[in-house]
Amino acid sequence: MKAAVLDKFKEPLAVKEVSDPELTSDGIILKLKATGVCRSDWHAWEGEWNGFIPPLPHILGHEMSGTVEEVGKDIKNFKKGDRVIVPFTQGDGTCPHCLAGHSNVCNHQVMPGFTYNGGFAQYTHIPNADRNLMKLPEGVDFLEASAMGCRFMTAFHGVTSRGKVAPGEWVAIFGAGGVGLSATQIATAIGANVIAVDIADDKLEFAKKVGAVATVNSKKENAPEAIKELTHGGAQVGIDALGIQATMLNSVLCLDKRGRHVQIGMTSFGDGGMMNIPLNEMVSREIQFSGSFGMPISEYPGMLQMVEKKRLQPGKLVKNTISLNGIDKVFHDMTNFAGLGVTVITDFD
Ligand SMILES: [Zn+2]
Ligand SMILES: [Zn+2]
Repeated sequence: MKAAVLDKFKEPLAVKEVSDPELTSDGIILKLKATGVCRSDWHAWEGEWNGFIPPLPHILGHEMSGTVEEVGKDIKNFKKGDRVIVPFTQGDGTCPHCLAGHSNVCNHQVMPGFTYNGGFAQYTHIPNADRNLMKLPEGVDFLEASAMGCRFMTAFHGVTSRGKVAPGEWVAIFGAGGVGLSATQIATAIGANVIAVDIADDKLEFAKKVGAVATVNSKKENAPEAIKELTHGGAQVGIDALGIQATMLNSVLCLDKRGRHVQIGMTSFGDGGMMNIPLNEMVSREIQFSGSFGMPISEYPGMLQMVEKKRLQPGKLVKNTISLNGIDKVFHDMTNFAGLGVTVITDFD
């Protein structure tokens, strides 16, 4: 099969023939129809990300959808030809967290594209597939499916399950990239008022198109002050979709008393996983701080039904479709924090 292979960190991916994936008894072979290119792929490509340094050579890509090509002998829920989406935080289905419905924090978690070969290829193998695949509803196409493969579903979990965003609340979303734009669309669909915050005016314009009622350019304005003014006191929820000190701090500082901060973005190499928080302010104003990681498979049916009924439209975030040869250009743009919206590979030949 053809694949875009990471042979050496920070070097262009090599698009070449490699051996086909091998089928296990509990796995399926997936024929890729669409794979999104995510900032997490870029982090892994750099090879400097705490905890997520893939073994080389490696095939990245974790925002996957396609059709089932072959099933292992123990597979009960899927057959050849099924249209599926692949959740990227995959659980064993048996640990206490999986049993409680929280497979995104499984004790034995695996992640396609990180802990095993992913979807920058014509085919890939999904292990433990009965527990870690979802069938796509009729009305949801592959492009939309891959557009919700990681950033969208991560945003869905962050907004709904962790942020518990309610109708009428003010939600300030920091970073108008894939996660931030997704969170903007989702929080808007739920009935919240979204303020998008970024340093790029073109990204803020795009955020308005997917539902933001106001925007703040944090390069030109003091974001917490601007948000407190817009909301007459502060936002109820702040979401840091980026994971840098400034955005995390601004998200906490823009909140009203008893506000909830949701941290989705992870730190880059330079921060080494550590950041400063305004502790006294958080204590005295009773600010909540929640981490949010991926999405458990238990929350997929609800999200997929909202997409099927067009209440959510992840396809609207897709700005580019490319071939396997086009991934390097996307990584280059990510290095420079350029590039608008979501890019999806749809040509694997
Ligand atoms: Zn991702
Ligand atoms: Zn588990």
